[in-house]
Amino acid sequence: MNDAEIAAAHPIRPIAEIAAEAGIAEDLLIPYGRHMAKVDVHALTAPERGRVVLVTGISPTPAGEGKTTVTVGLADGLNLLAQQPDAPDAVAGARTVVALREPSLGPVFGIKGGATGGGRAQVVPMEDINLHFTGDFHAITSAHNLLCALVDNHVQQGNALGIDPRTIALKRALDMNDRTLRDVVTGLGGRTQGVPREGGFEITVATETMAVFCLAADLADLKARLGRITVGYTYDGEAVTASQIGPNGAQGAMAVLLKDAIKPNLVQTLGGTPALVHGGPFANIAHGANSVIATRTARRLGDLVVTEAGFGADLGGQKFMDITAVAGGFPPAAAVVVATVRALKLQAGIALPDVKAGVAEAAERSGRGLADVRAEHVDALRAGLANLERHVGNMRAYGVPVVVAVNRFTQDDDAELDVLRAWGVENGVPVAVADVWGGGGEGALELARLLGEHLPAPGEPAPPVTGLWTEGMEVEERIQAVVRRVYGGAGAELSPVARRQLAQLRARGLDRLPVCMAKTQYSFSDDPTLLNAPEGFTVSVRELSAKTGAGFVVALTGAVMTMPGLPASPAADRMDVADDGTVTGLF
Ligand code: ADP
Ligand code: MG
Repeated sequence: MNDAEIAAAHPIRPIAEIAAEAGIAEDLLIPYGRHMAKVDVHALTAPERGRVVLVTGISPTPAGEGKTTVTVGLADGLNLLAQQPDAPDAVAGARTVVALREPSLGPVFGIKGGATGGGRAQVVPMEDINLHFTGDFHAITSAHNLLCALVDNHVQQGNALGIDPRTIALKRALDMNDRTLRDVVTGLGGRTQGVPREGGFEITVATETMAVFCLAADLADLKARLGRITVGYTYDGEAVTASQIGPNGAQGAMAVLLKDAIKPNLVQTLGGTPALVHGGPFANIAHGANSVIATRTARRLGDLVVTEAGFGADLGGQKFMDITAVAGGFPPAAAVVVATVRALKLQAGIALPDVKAGVAEAAERSGRGLADVRAEHVDALRAGLANLERHVGNMRAYGVPVVVAVNRFTQDDDAELDVLRAWGVENGVPVAVADVWGGGGEGALELARLLGEHLPAPGEPAPPVTGLWTEGMEVEERIQAVVRRVYGGAGAELSPVARRQLAQLRARGLDRLPVCMAKTQYSFSDDPTLLNAPEGFTVSVRELSAKTGAGFVVALTGAVMTMPGLPASPAADRMDVADDGTVTGLF
């Protein structure tokens, strides 16, 4: 059975029941049908007590290595373990809640597919969550495009601020992979059709409006941050923010479009664990974590909160520790690094079809003996462990206990799993094999127990988290710190354009903001073909973009794009809906 079939075969409980069990009063629940709801967090008064467990991962393959799947399975596993008499102190009797990002339509119809987990470790209703859900991304897209329209209209209607159209930094948004919209010319057709300028589109999950949405503490903070978004510069080189557009600024109208979206969505896992699924910036080109509001709500509802940061620990993991957790005031109590046999082999150069097929199939296809192929794969796996080791070391450097979760696939060979377990013992890294895809929460019990043993017991303080940056560090120093200490490179090199932008930031007093790196997820470096644990490389920063609403500077490295394209054979090619409304091809 595929993910959609497994989800469909599973009885799903009324969301009101899940909410009641989680301690959400009925009048705070805004149902969207029977199985999804928004939560009016305004009136939630329970203290933020839940300890955050961050799920991150190694450098992934294009298919994803199962962080969402492990996040969901682990949460179900923790809730099962909590009821067992021999549970570790940190888990015994504890209630676990999940916090996740909402899926973007870009990957759903592109290469990767949905983002609701897989197999017996999913959040449901998977079809709704993967498609329009409660409309949040449409609202964010609309709010962002409203700002774009207001800015271009300001220029058209006399341009009182003197905005130089060539400096408008804002791009329009679409939640779809569409490379043809990366660079466009707008305003063609004469005086009444606007002022022509070069513009472009970003995918919604890369926009500053999404980042602001996910970092805002509440509606008031959302509005304040929206007002601080830099839209462009005047002919005199002065920055213009959204708060200057129109007599009252654009932030009020934008917030009108977001007033319902900002309430977190409540759904459930297949194991009946409450899941707050809200917001969803990509982790390669944005900060990569669900909304701060959702995580803080989860902390009010649960003793433990399992949340995921996108892509590898070099991207979402670093950004969670240095941006999201700081903004939200929830340094994690532990980190889980998800590894797969297939991604580790890919890191050591085994070709992708073999990585996905596993040893037995690779042997059959090549006509060679099983023993030979196995030896080759085990050797590659050992070499690829350098990637895992660097990611684990990076998370440990923050001061959090780290547990490795090997996300088991059916094609994994026992000899390969043994290599991973032995590596853990030799290197003093706690490793658990989790079969969450096949076994749901039960498949995560070993992992839940291991994690529980490394979590501080209730009442015991969590070890302090040491961020990568110190207060007042300059943007360039911050970039160098990420490249040298997290990526393992020699340093970063700023392009002439980036240098000019840095001077502009300095002139605006913004040269000490945190940095959000935009980098390929496939390598520690900015070159997607440089695999495993490369050293000595230089990361080229081609552009710096001030996201003054989000409160960080985005550093675009290598060839990374803020509007992805579709592959030759997109997932959309295999999707359909039958006459009775049954959808096929979602995964
Ligand atoms: P990530 O969050 O790391 O990007 P996901 O959890 O979304 O990865 O998983 C990516 C895809 O791989 C999903 O379609 C999921 O169903 C599938 N998947 C994850 N783990 C397994 C597994 N152990 N066996 C089979 N398929 C899996
Ligand atoms: Mg994911």
